Amino acid sequence: MNNLPTVKVMYRALVNKDVTFEGIFYAGVKTTGIFCRPTCPAKKPDMKNVEFFASAKNALLAGFKPCKRCQPMQPLGKAPEWIAGLLKEVSENNSIRWKDSDLRVRNYDPISVRRWFKKNHNITFHAYVRSLRLGNAIGRLKNGDNLTQTAFNHGYESLSGFRDAIKKITGMTAGKAGNSTIVYLNRILTPLGPMLAGATNEGICLLEFLDRRMLGTQLKILIKRLNCNFVPGSNEVIESVSGELKEYFNGNLKQFKTPVIFPGTTFQMRVWKNLINIPSGTTISYEHLAGQIGQPAAVRAVASANGANRIAIVIPCHRVIGKDGNLTGYGGGLWRKKFLIELEKGSY
Ligand SMILES: [Zn+2]
Repeated sequence: MNNLPTVKVMYRALVNKDVTFEGIFYAGVKTTGIFCRPTCPAKKPDMKNVEFFASAKNALLAGFKPCKRCQPMQPLGKAPEWIAGLLKEVSENNSIRWKDSDLRVRNYDPISVRRWFKKNHNITFHAYVRSLRLGNAIGRLKNGDNLTQTAFNHGYESLSGFRDAIKKITGMTAGKAGNSTIVYLNRILTPLGPMLAGATNEGICLLEFLDRRMLGTQLKILIKRLNCNFVPGSNEVIESVSGELKEYFNGNLKQFKTPVIFPGTTFQMRVWKNLINIPSGTTISYEHLAGQIGQPAAVRAVASANGANRIAIVIPCHRVIGKDGNLTGYGGGLWRKKFLIELEKGSY
């Protein structure tokens, strides 16, 4: 709990429904005995009536009940009712090129929709539809919702839909058939939201949150570096990392054993190799990491290699923080970085 921001900062975040604090704190309201996420739409109590917690578990242990509106016990990203229908439609049919009039016809106020996406995903509605298009092309395979099973079982047509999706996202046609590496893509659900996993039969080469804007670029780099073709599906490597992630989020796994493949520049690969050696439960600074690879002056380059990491969590770029202890940046969002560091310290 000593890692919580100050009460003032948290209270301001609570009043502003600041989504960047999602997962960082929970707010218990003493007068009602209910606890909420920072973004709860309910009316905000006076500061003196709020108690802050680092985890939902701690709030429960202190005797607070989860709020019915913001549902702090639900996995992050669960949508409220008013927009659930739209999300369902978008996820089932991502060929629509949404215009404001399409939203109005369905009784959605375009401004509210935009605001909700900005607030909850920090992206535009259109960017969300794009990332879903990919998520859908791959994600109907496993562990998700009831939409599963379709893509693969229907053979050629879905596979070509998948290829279209990849092409739309990366702007590239994947490597030539025949002589290229196959990278299986699949979705893995985590408490921090769905991730996209990519693996050859030799190791995992991609693990990234699906809402990440960099995802298209990351896929593009993989096509170039591995001369690969993407295929929706799973293999032993993906099964392995998926099992390990489960254990990791349960707090039982300190070191991943699934083999990793991380082609990059010589410099990047040196940084990434060193990241793997940072023990779970600890953090180091960018300066320290630069020193470790023998280039103490290359702090910026180290930070940018860190940000270019394609295998989130397994190559723990989240364990690198600012010299002053600030979390600084994280591609997947600061709230996720904070969560991962806390999880590894055993705080959840
Ligand atoms: Zn609430």
